Amino acid sequence: MRTARRQADWNHVLYGLFAIAILGLSWFGGLFVERWSLSSIKTTAVERTLLYKSTLNNAISRLRYLPMVISRHPVISDLLEKHQGLAEARTYLSSINTASNGAVIYVLDKTGRTIASSNWQQAKSFEGNNYGFRPYFKQALAGREGRLFAIGVTTKRAGYFFSRPIYARQQTKTVLGVVVVKVELEQLQSEWQEGGENVFVTSKDDVIILSSNLDWIYKTTKPLSIKPREKIAASRIFEEQSLDPLDFKGSQQQFQGPVSINRVQYHAFASQPDQNGLTVYYLAELGAAKNAKWLSMILLLTVGFLSLMIFLYLRERTRKLVLDKEAREARRIKRINEQLEAEINTRKHVEKELRNAQKELVLATKMAALGRMSAAIAHEVNQPIAAIRTFAASGKLLLERGNSEDAVLALDDISKMTERLALITGDLKLLARNSNEQHSRVDLRVAIANSMKLFDAEFHSNDVAIRRTISAHPVWVEGSLTRIEQVLINLIRNALDAMSVRTNQHQLIVSLKVENNQAVLRIEDNGIGLSSKVAEYLFDPFFTTKPLGEGTGLGLAISYGIVEEMGGKLRARNLPRGGASFSVRLGLAPEPVEHKILETAR
Ligand code: ADP
Repeated sequence: MRTARRQADWNHVLYGLFAIAILGLSWFGGLFVERWSLSSIKTTAVERTLLYKSTLNNAISRLRYLPMVISRHPVISDLLEKHQGLAEARTYLSSINTASNGAVIYVLDKTGRTIASSNWQQAKSFEGNNYGFRPYFKQALAGREGRLFAIGVTTKRAGYFFSRPIYARQQTKTVLGVVVVKVELEQLQSEWQEGGENVFVTSKDDVIILSSNLDWIYKTTKPLSIKPREKIAASRIFEEQSLDPLDFKGSQQQFQGPVSINRVQYHAFASQPDQNGLTVYYLAELGAAKNAKWLSMILLLTVGFLSLMIFLYLRERTRKLVLDKEAREARRIKRINEQLEAEINTRKHVEKELRNAQKELVLATKMAALGRMSAAIAHEVNQPIAAIRTFAASGKLLLERGNSEDAVLALDDISKMTERLALITGDLKLLARNSNEQHSRVDLRVAIANSMKLFDAEFHSNDVAIRRTISAHPVWVEGSLTRIEQVLINLIRNALDAMSVRTNQHQLIVSLKVENNQAVLRIEDNGIGLSSKVAEYLFDPFFTTKPLGEGTGLGLAISYGIVEEMGGKLRARNLPRGGASFSVRLGLAPEPVEHKILETAR
């Protein structure tokens, strides 16, 4: 019970650990997927940033060399030097503009006034406008290449301006005017917008000039300080735009890092500022990585807990199967027990009946034995009584006649008859085993010799061959010599009776030896042997096969009682060669100290 409880506790701890392991694995798995996803996003982002930068550069630099080519054209030189050929110049500029797919090309004189432009035919023609305030004009006038991103003063459209000085044909140092090519980037911007990615370009003053998100245009990534703001206002680069700072958080020094714009998290990648001071920002959305993280966490959790559930289910099922099997087995054992119990009850009942039958049988046997005994006693007693009566009558007659001598003889006969009666009652007393004789040490060799002596005459007259195999040493047992002799006399008597029926040479074997610390005495004959019926009732009192008056059937019963009383065993068996063998086994008595003295005395 206690072990089962401890096991259950352990199981709970184990399941808890499993659950923690699943949670941990899911958490780390999610983090791993997020990192992996981020690294893949970053790799792509770096490539995208470079791509955007190169498309921007291409878009801007495409017409970068056009001003230099135009500045050297004779039509333009004539227009500035000789103030003639306006129509040719206009045609030239618009044809170049159309062919190069630029926004507008125009020529300024030394004061910054537009004297010819490719859009001369349009309502918002630049001709007559003065752009002397634009830095690109000043730069070109100073003999340098000018470049500027700005919102068009006339068109209000943003673009990139490239300018070159126009020199007098003979004097290469005299600047007559300036040629300007404007490239508009709106096409590029709409392409970026369509691309659906977050990308923007900042000028060197950190003003967003191009963006896939139109809300961010002309916002700054950090607040503008007064000086650059004044400079910008003077050159009217961003016209009326207020250049408010964008809600932008994140280090701008970093080439890449996390940023938040309008409270949306991105991972920003910024290109190195190009020669125009433009920086391309590519903003990677982290939602995908976060989604991948949560998705994989949920997936791992689901798979983990599902596995745990399946494991628990299978475990529970196996346990149930085992319990079912055990219950089936218990039921089977119970059934067997019940059957056994029923069988035992039946057996007990049968046994009881058997015992009753046995009791009845014993009673019947006893009654039969009692009948036999009564008959035997009546027969044995009647004879002497009848004889006594006859002797008494003849004694009386003899006394009446005065023949006192014969009367005395008759009285002697009466006395003999009473002796016989005493013998019978003595035998019956023996059967009752109420002998008070004292036990002493008996040498069985002496008992044998005494008993055999009584039959000497009979042996002789019946021509019985005697074979003695007697131990050379005394064989001491504890008991009564007369009673042992009585047993031996009974056995020898029976042997002689059994042999008398047969006509063969009568042979009696008497042996005495010590086996396993026991005295073993055997009386063997070659008589009629023991039939199975005789063997069954052999030791029963009053069982006899001898004619009435010859045997009382008490001899073996008394002998059996005597030997049992001495703690020994009396057994009978048939011999293979014919005849019966009776054995008496008695425990040895300790060797007496006066053994030798007794021996010498005898
Ligand atoms: P009894 O000698 O008065 O008949 P026992 O008790 O001594 O009474 O013997 C019982 C019977 O056992 C005998 O009547 C006899 O049939 C049988 N019996 C005893 N000893 C022998 C023997 N040595 N051989 C054959 N039968 C024997």
